[in-house]
Amino acid sequence: MLGRMYEGQDCSIARALEVVGDRWTLLLLRDLFFGLKRFDEFQQSLGIAPNVLTDRLKRLDQEGLLKRVRYQDSPERYEYLPTRKALDLQPVIFHLAKWGDRYCPDPLGPPRISYHANCGGKVNEKLHCGRCKKLVWFDNIYTEANPTHQKAK
Ligand SMILES: [Zn+2]
Repeated sequence: MLGRMYEGQDCSIARALEVVGDRWTLLLLRDLFFGLKRFDEFQQSLGIAPNVLTDRLKRLDQEGLLKRVRYQDSPERYEYLPTRKALDLQPVIFHLAKWGDRYCPDPLGPPRISYHANCGGKVNEKLHCGRCKKLVWFDNIYTEANPTHQKAK
């Protein structure tokens, strides 16, 4: 459990950071939005120690950001799905990624590209679709690995 670190702050951002300010937590939310569901998938994606992953999943569960769904009885295994409360953080993760693309760029370009689910057009940081020219919202956006990054591996 993370300690309360901003008790002196009368600030909505500080209160939100008490819940999601840990870097593993933000990367875990990213993976949930990519569709990862299982402990092993998170561990492989993040390269995180099992005890730290267990702690962050428990914390997200306690905060109502994910729901645990049992998919196997013996041994007990769970899948983790984002709740509405977690999905409401999609704009934060999206814009953090776009900020990183701009100010902490990778020489190979953005690692992931965002697309409009309806037409397959690329979605820019202002949420405009390059193909149909519509304003797109997060429930209609998916991302895929940038092919330039796949070639490099
Ligand atoms: Zn479109």
